[in-house]
Amino acid sequence: MNNRSAAIGEIANEKAPSPAAAKPFALDFYGEDVFGLTAAKKYLPKAVVKKLEATLVSGQPLDPAIAGDVAHGMKTWALERGASHFTHWFQPLTGGTAEKHDSFLEPTGVGEAVMQFSGKNLIIGEPDASSFPSGGLRATFEARGYTAWDPSSPAFIKRHANGATLCIPTAFYSYTGEALDTKTPLLRSIQALQKSVKRLMTAFGAPAGSVKVTLGPEQEYFLIDKKFYLNRPDLVQTGRTLFGAPPPKHQQLEDHYFGAIRPRILAFMTEVETELWKLGIPAKTRHNEVAPAQFELAPMFEELNLAVDHNMLAMEVLRQTAERHGLVCLLHEKPFAGINGSGKHNNWSVSYGDANLLEPGDSPHQNARFLTVLTAIVRAIDLHSDILRTGTAYAGNDHRLGANEAPPAIISIFLGEQLTDIIEQIEKGEAASSKEAGTMKIGVDLLPPLPKDATDRNRTSPFAFTGNKFEFRAPGSSQSCATVNTLLNTIVAESLDYLAGKIESFGGGDFNQQLQKLLQAEIVAHKRIIFNGDNYSAEWAAEAERRGLPNHRTTMAALAALRADATVALFEKYGVLNRTELESRFEIYLEEYHRKIMIEGKIAIAIAKSSILPVVAQACAGAARAHTDIVASKIDAGLDALFAHARALGTQLDALTYAIAAAEKALALKHEDIIAATLKLREVVDGLETTLDDAQWPLPKYREMLFVY
Ligand code: ADP
Ligand code: MG
Repeated sequence: MNNRSAAIGEIANEKAPSPAAAKPFALDFYGEDVFGLTAAKKYLPKAVVKKLEATLVSGQPLDPAIAGDVAHGMKTWALERGASHFTHWFQPLTGGTAEKHDSFLEPTGVGEAVMQFSGKNLIIGEPDASSFPSGGLRATFEARGYTAWDPSSPAFIKRHANGATLCIPTAFYSYTGEALDTKTPLLRSIQALQKSVKRLMTAFGAPAGSVKVTLGPEQEYFLIDKKFYLNRPDLVQTGRTLFGAPPPKHQQLEDHYFGAIRPRILAFMTEVETELWKLGIPAKTRHNEVAPAQFELAPMFEELNLAVDHNMLAMEVLRQTAERHGLVCLLHEKPFAGINGSGKHNNWSVSYGDANLLEPGDSPHQNARFLTVLTAIVRAIDLHSDILRTGTAYAGNDHRLGANEAPPAIISIFLGEQLTDIIEQIEKGEAASSKEAGTMKIGVDLLPPLPKDATDRNRTSPFAFTGNKFEFRAPGSSQSCATVNTLLNTIVAESLDYLAGKIESFGGGDFNQQLQKLLQAEIVAHKRIIFNGDNYSAEWAAEAERRGLPNHRTTMAALAALRADATVALFEKYGVLNRTELESRFEIYLEEYHRKIMIEGKIAIAIAKSSILPVVAQACAGAARAHTDIVASKIDAGLDALFAHARALGTQLDALTYAIAAAEKALALKHEDIIAATLKLREVVDGLETTLDDAQWPLPKYREMLFVY
């Protein structure tokens, strides 16, 4: 019996969990592992809570004098929850999260100790950061990196089998103050966007208000049985299958999407939600996705910085909970060739005071504001889609963007029929006779009710207006949302700022008329970025090229925009990333990309050589033996077929040996060559998978991993 049938046997013996007896559901554990305002009120003096609240709710800078008190209360709270250690929790440029635990323990004498946690412990940390990628920002001999408390994201408890750890969200930066993480520029970009929104709102004569940037990230993932996973060295090492013939049935019947969720999966999902709810992460939606064994988790949207942290935690909870259920959660963008990959739909919006600025309003005045913000976004994406694209440039994501899958690498905006119609009316402007039908007068006319969640929602668009927010669908499932939103915030901040400047310089005439002219000019200049049709079609690729829209199909092509002079100027102007920080990011991402391709090439060769080749060689020897036996006994029947079979196997063996040699040679060449050679190797191996004796095949097959669980 091989590994595969053993795994199937074990899975066959597992019983699906039975439904539990009904008991009333109490949500009293929601947020119990978060040191939010509720906990703060219980554990901190009133005056301290007030100051903390000013930071949390109104975004005021933290008064450092309260750190000692906060630390003390936080420690008491954490100890009561079984925490023995604390850690600064940060997001280095590896794209993941990092933590280094210190115990609260402080010896006070021989055999005596106290549990201690000071204000300084809370505010600043100095992990030995020499091994994090810094893209030359920080030479290893100057290893110092600092972590600084981000009070806008509450501390939380991570539980484990023997206790718990207090985690403090922090930013991570170098001795010279350069960002070494994804959070620092995100926070800077939020500030930049807030400033621009305030400027624009002031130009509109709005009363002072606070600006919130919001995010609801939809997280797609795959689940497979751990027993299969452990027999796939490619999955273990790279997160995706480098081999595997497509099964006859995969997703073509579309019977998995929104299908009834299997009990084993539902048990897993429920536990994930419980863990998330304890952490105050508002997990809301769960469902089967399009591909077999693919699922989605969507939270209720939250303030951007918090939502990003929560998504990082959600990915960790998904992975860890899966392990407890004998499953493995694959967050890779394309774990299985030939079926849908996984994305992370980035639902983004901005609000001012109580109003969502992307919500069309009930009054002409609100609509003037809405259309101005909308125009700013259209302008921003048109001018800087190449910058936005860099945030999705990632080895795993190359299999989605630019491949024949959603969405394409060409960034365009979907506005929907009605809104496009309005934009076109503005574009036409007021004709000589202002009575001309079909022109929208800004600040005077009411918008028709725009369909939210309407039927014409375009699933193929990378950047779609969905009623009261924009949904950016290009980010990959394993990527942090921090980077794309840093880019998005900054380019939108620039456009809002630009429009605000224009509005500020309006003459004494009619405000609405001048605004109309301004928006008209901007729409004329930037409407090429709007596309409501099928983004997968070849016609669109050709049309986009005519329109001059960039189409960066690969990570390599896309990343270049990160260090372009225009990008540097823009990001320096808004204080989000300076030239050195951008350069270092470019280097880190490039290096990471190259290493990933290299690892894939190497593991593909290893599998082909040590797992596949012996099986093929054995089959060849077997065929040859059978052939001689038959000749010896002079049985004619089937002789020709056997000859052909042996010959074919021999040819395949040659092809495999050749493909392995070519892949080995490619490792010394460019990554394009490695990719091409590994693909060639894959073709040969996948061909063998379908012809060789099933019992001898060493790797769990797609039809098993995707359907047997
Ligand atoms: P669909 O799968 O149809 O695109 P979902 O309901 O799965 O939609 O996800 C939509 C996401 O958008 C949710 O996370 C939701 O909270 C989020 N969202 C809704 N309104 C806003 C908003 N104003 N700002 C940011 N995100 C929002
Ligand atoms: Mg969506």
